[in-house]
Amino acid sequence: MTRINVMRPWLGQEEAAALAEVVASGWVAQGPRVARFEEAFAEAQQARHAVATSSCTTALHLALVVAGIGPGDEVVVPSFSFIATANVVVHAGARPVFADVDPVTGNVTAGTVEPVLSERTRAVVVVDQGGVPVDLDDVRALCDPLGIVVVEDAACAVGSAYRGRPVGAGADISAWSFHPRKVLTTGEGGMITTAREDWAARARTLREHAMTISASARHASVLAPAEEYAEVGWNYRMTDLQAAVGLVQLGRLPEIVRRRRELARRYTDALAGTPGLRPVADPPWGETNFQSYWLEVAPERGIDREEVLARLARADISARRGIMAAHRQPAYAGYPHAPLPVTERLTDSTLILPLFHEMTDDEQSRVLDVLTSVPAGVRP
Ligand SMILES: *Cc1c(COP(=O)(O)O)cnc(C)c1O
Repeated sequence: MTRINVMRPWLGQEEAAALAEVVASGWVAQGPRVARFEEAFAEAQQARHAVATSSCTTALHLALVVAGIGPGDEVVVPSFSFIATANVVVHAGARPVFADVDPVTGNVTAGTVEPVLSERTRAVVVVDQGGVPVDLDDVRALCDPLGIVVVEDAACAVGSAYRGRPVGAGADISAWSFHPRKVLTTGEGGMITTAREDWAARARTLREHAMTISASARHASVLAPAEEYAEVGWNYRMTDLQAAVGLVQLGRLPEIVRRRRELARRYTDALAGTPGLRPVADPPWGETNFQSYWLEVAPERGIDREEVLARLARADISARRGIMAAHRQPAYAGYPHAPLPVTERLTDSTLILPLFHEMTDDEQSRVLDVLTSVPAGVRP
């Protein structure tokens, strides 16, 4: 029996060839390939501007900075997210305020954000959790009239769709991840997309120490012009090595999403007859890329989430506990929050099943056998 992992990136000869070409070119840092990847990504996401970064965490940090978020500000974030969503608010000098999520999608809604707004709220970070598109229009209808910026943490959502367009296309600013746990990977890497030219321009300089002339432009001239540092920036650059892989991966994206949705449908159909297991599904307003195929284990199942995970582990299947809750982490012990009942329920009762491009039907059947083998309501 071989181990079934929760995720495995789909990488091939094309990525290897693209990397070899970058190495042969002698230019491996941020350069022409990053620029090409930005253009191609902006086009694919129907975004006006794209700015590549070293990760989604750094992209989110820059997004908050260019949106003018800083000390004294409150930023509403879901606790039900990877820790980086909250951390970037702290990096920006502001204070994260946790909102609860909708039990069906795992995403914030206007109804969960509204109760935690204050006069100090300057931004809301919405997350397309696990790839499920957030109902952005709903949150913007609440925030836009109040002058509150909505930042979309689309780390999980490349290839997901919202109201017939790619996720992020309708946001003022979005951030993306290309970590191998996500659907499209560059090893590490991230991107900002934004409709605002001024925000894109500032993010572009801030990712490179706020240098007035980019390193690649300086390198292109024999006698490099003197640069200036207009403000305090960071080194948040992507490399041309990563961008070359990203360009190949972007070409694979439609096939990756098609296959993930096919595997997800097979899971959902096969689990329909097992009471007490509620799988994630497309919301009415869009389509998920099924970056995370999660299940809620309800009491009717007769065994709890930990027992399901243990049984999968015994069959050498590596599933994962569902999405974490940041407010429960020691790092956020000092942050008071309103009750977060749905977040706590979902984080305690969900698990993420293996789903990756090259997963075989046999592998998927092995997972399904474990999930469906205990009759509902029967205690083992
Ligand atoms: C993965 C993830 C991030 C962080 O992405 P990195 O590229 O690893 O920095 C941020 N937000 C969410 C919702 C994520 O899932």
